[in-house]
Amino acid sequence: MLEHQIGRLQLCQRLDGILIATSSLPGDAEILQIANRLGLNSFAGSEDDVLDRIYKAAKQEHADVVVRITGDCPLIDPAVVDQMVGAFLARRDELDYLGTGPTFPEGLDTEVMSFAALERAWHEAVKKSEREHVTPYIFLSGRFRTARTEYERDLAHLRWTVDHESDFSLVRHIYEQLFPRFGYNFGVREILDLFQKEPELAAINEHIVRNEGFLKSLSEESGKLEMVKVRSLRRSEEYWARAKGLIPAGTQTLSKGPTQFVEGVAPKYLQRAQGSHVWDVDGNEYIDLPMALGAIILGHNYPAVSEAILQQMQSGTSFSLMHPIEVEVSETVRSLVPCAQMVRFGKNGSDATTGAVRVARAYTGREKVAHCGYHGWHDWYIGCTSRNKGVPHWAIEQQFAFTYNRIDSLKEIFAANPGEVAAVIMEPFGVTLPEDGFLEKVKALAHENGAVLIYDEVATGFRFHLGGIHQYLGVDPDLACFGKAIANGMPISVLAGRAEIMQVLAEEVFYSFTFGGECLSLAAAQATINEMREKNVIAHLWEMGRRLQNSFNRLASDYGLQKHVQCLGLPPRTFVSFSDVGTVPALIVKSLFQQEAIKRGVLFTGAHCLSYSHTPEDIDFVLAAYQKAFEVLSKAIRQGNIEEKIEGRPVQPVFRAVN
Ligand code: PMP
Repeated sequence: MLEHQIGRLQLCQRLDGILIATSSLPGDAEILQIANRLGLNSFAGSEDDVLDRIYKAAKQEHADVVVRITGDCPLIDPAVVDQMVGAFLARRDELDYLGTGPTFPEGLDTEVMSFAALERAWHEAVKKSEREHVTPYIFLSGRFRTARTEYERDLAHLRWTVDHESDFSLVRHIYEQLFPRFGYNFGVREILDLFQKEPELAAINEHIVRNEGFLKSLSEESGKLEMVKVRSLRRSEEYWARAKGLIPAGTQTLSKGPTQFVEGVAPKYLQRAQGSHVWDVDGNEYIDLPMALGAIILGHNYPAVSEAILQQMQSGTSFSLMHPIEVEVSETVRSLVPCAQMVRFGKNGSDATTGAVRVARAYTGREKVAHCGYHGWHDWYIGCTSRNKGVPHWAIEQQFAFTYNRIDSLKEIFAANPGEVAAVIMEPFGVTLPEDGFLEKVKALAHENGAVLIYDEVATGFRFHLGGIHQYLGVDPDLACFGKAIANGMPISVLAGRAEIMQVLAEEVFYSFTFGGECLSLAAAQATINEMREKNVIAHLWEMGRRLQNSFNRLASDYGLQKHVQCLGLPPRTFVSFSDVGTVPALIVKSLFQQEAIKRGVLFTGAHCLSYSHTPEDIDFVLAAYQKAFEVLSKAIRQGNIEEKIEGRPVQPVFRAVN
């Protein structure tokens, strides 16, 4: 097999030389003899630390560009290798690494990298899987400039590598058919022709999962993985029984409630949390990913914040007059956030967004609101959803939803309501980035029409950038709303903006409540922001998020599910999006995936809101659980029994947009 592979590689035009790198174990001595017989250089190095082996082999050759082909690819295509080398050299200044992407059949894998990148990985990579599989550190750590090429059509379902006997049978058959006619001169096209003539060939090894070896070592690293297999949820169910008939909907926050989880599989009540881990009332441990809907940015019970809260508590929590910390935190927000000339506090995100809308209405003397995204529970917004009973019709008539990245949808609102729109309120970023100057266009359109531009950064502020997502995106609104991350889980929100507009709060607008200046949350906000400034928290969120998102999407394509399951968004906050599989609805697909992740100790809701406490080990634990979830899901899809595999009532929607 090896000789065949070498025979094919020798047809490449763009390789200066071929070296065989193997292990120094006695059993591999024969490989060195083969290299010798073929007149090729060889290198014998570590069995497990293959990164070290490849690095030393490349160093021995004084290579400055390294093409890595693994020895299990006897159908490697010389034309593909040459194209990859050419593409890498053409982009030499902008790339450290170029690999074949998931649309290639497995077994055509070609990786081209600079020696410098290999050397850096050799210095920096520490994990067993990164050492054993050579390049994961390069393409997952986010520290290198990497790219992947696509094949001209999606051949991800084909498996031409050799790990199992069935793989070997397939490859031997291909050689028997094509070698007598072409010698080594056959490539993807000729093999595909053969598959067309003999369609049963694809079935020989299609049951084997792509990139098995890498996936296996991921799960080895997460030894605890199967620990949570048999869990009791008895106490969760007991509390739930007590809540029935007492707490309408059973929950204070719909997206934390049981409708968002597979009944009987997910815990209902959590009791304790530390760092990135949580424990349910039955003592089961999970890695937390929703992190209290994105509120916990540093980690649960984070020492600097807990300490600040405790200290404040000992000198008072709520006072009968103002407290200086209101001034201090306002100054901190003003010093960080570009649009924040004046600052007011609230408790929930909805306080800030509702305050902003009232300010805009007072400032413009108009009533209508154009909105885009989710903005909270108040009449002026929630009326546009299916959960709008109790909202008066006149409130619903004042609100108009527009669509992200579709400027025409906002233009239509202004055209239909000339001189009547008080505010354009939007989440400036959700999962997709603005395209084609969308944010600039929205701003211009709002201002041309005399409306106030409000950014709802409740979910995104203080997560992507300390100056808010608007600083990250480079467009300043008139008003901005913050919540969630700003105080590491303590209830506080912020309404900030241009002085000229905010000033209306000083006069005729009522925005005032008992707990507006509650001091524990303000102390927590100050401590959280200080910590974020000092510790490079946001860089950590990007790094962990990249590791999670890249590997997630790689797993999805390894299981051939990239069309149905995708991890979207920017690394500090990503979402797993599921789509229908045939007639099976997306929420059912999600339910099975969620069930399998939760069983393995990962609290999965679809949102990854990472914190400063998430470690690379946490991420790998999560990935190992996801790998199992993908395995179960892909099997269920093949067998057509996704629904049967779900062990309780599946996930339900909170509401649907109806506007
Ligand atoms: N705006 C956005 C973008 C949000 O994500 C949320 C909460 N998920 C809100 C507003 C409302 O915040 P709260 O639930 O704290 O009232």
